[in-house]
Amino acid sequence: MITPVLPTYARAKVSFERGEGVRVFTPEGESYLDFGAGVAVTSCGHSHPHLVKALTEQAQKIWHTSNLYQMPGQERLAQRLIDNSFADTVFFTNSGAEALECAIKMARKFQAASGHPEKYRLITFEGAFHGRTLATIAAGGQAKYLEGFGPKVEGFDQVPFGDHEALKAAISPETAGILIEPVQGEGGIRPVPPQCLKGLRELCDEKGLLLIFDEVQCGIGRTGKLFAHEWAGIAPDIMAIAKGIGGGFPLGACLATERAASGMTAGTHGSTFGGNPLATAVGNAVLDVVLAPGFLESVQQRALTLKQKLAALKDQHPAIIEDIRGAGLMVGIKCKVPNTALQAAALDQHLLTIGAGDNVVRLLPPLVVTDADIAEAVDKLDRACRALEAKAA
Ligand SMILES: *Cc1c(COP(=O)(O)O)cnc(C)c1O
Repeated sequence: MITPVLPTYARAKVSFERGEGVRVFTPEGESYLDFGAGVAVTSCGHSHPHLVKALTEQAQKIWHTSNLYQMPGQERLAQRLIDNSFADTVFFTNSGAEALECAIKMARKFQAASGHPEKYRLITFEGAFHGRTLATIAAGGQAKYLEGFGPKVEGFDQVPFGDHEALKAAISPETAGILIEPVQGEGGIRPVPPQCLKGLRELCDEKGLLLIFDEVQCGIGRTGKLFAHEWAGIAPDIMAIAKGIGGGFPLGACLATERAASGMTAGTHGSTFGGNPLATAVGNAVLDVVLAPGFLESVQQRALTLKQKLAALKDQHPAIIEDIRGAGLMVGIKCKVPNTALQAAALDQHLLTIGAGDNVVRLLPPLVVTDADIAEAVDKLDRACRALEAKAA
């Protein structure tokens, strides 16, 4: 018999009723160390007092008005994102996939409004993940997500990750732009080297293409800069964000330059809930935390600690861990055993991690993680590895 909730998820047999910082608690009061942050979402940790205050204060004022009226909280959040990025304008959504939908539509509309309606195709990369809507599964191009859902939405050409020649060959008179995650998340924590991002920028400028970044997972401080592409010293024309900006409240956004957004006039796009007062109150509170002086530097320092400790762990467990990779607090443990086995062993040690493609276990702790939390997590991973070794012996 089907479950009351559509059974599309493979859920671990544990639930949490309360969270505090980097820890979550089961109804029985058992504590788990959360190094998944709900897939890079609870960027400020659980129940951050500043976020709780922002949400509850807003909840007592007004929840929803719709985008038919002026939205001061939304305007403030947009302005702050603009002040801290390449962008001139922002569209708010409830999710990452919707932010990508806006980015895709905007790129097509830009070309159409510039007299090139034939340029509607986007080049994407193998291993990419851009969401679960019909267009974003086509953009992601993964067979397992496309299978059985009818004809793939037209307009996406996928090339192998890191294959420069294939990328150049894929550019046609119908190409509108290039869509890429600066750090592939679901694909297995694969950072695009800064010189490649620079190369993409040059290629787009040379060919008149729009460069679109999907920073839904790697943005909002995750890599130690507000946006991951800042490490490369270049900027996209359009960028989708979500996950971390809401700190656990559903919120996404599509950021763009004035030029790239030039086709998106009144009536061309919209959302009932997008950028609602509750969501943007939390979004503004998240930025208060992440943009506080020294915060991103502290993320960089914590990231270094984590990287060093994981390098040592890899040396101790060569039969389990093949490689450690990532950027900032977005780390992938490439496994020699099935990644699900390491995840399950970590769960036994009350450490939450997230699986990813390419047999990787992802560590995406809240950005407020401390050195002590990191030491504890790596100790739990060490125990998990030992348990797996004992099983194999
Ligand atoms: C999670 C994710 C998405 C989709 O976001 P949803 O909020 O689940 O729609 C898109 N792109 C990337 C890189 C993601 O990690």
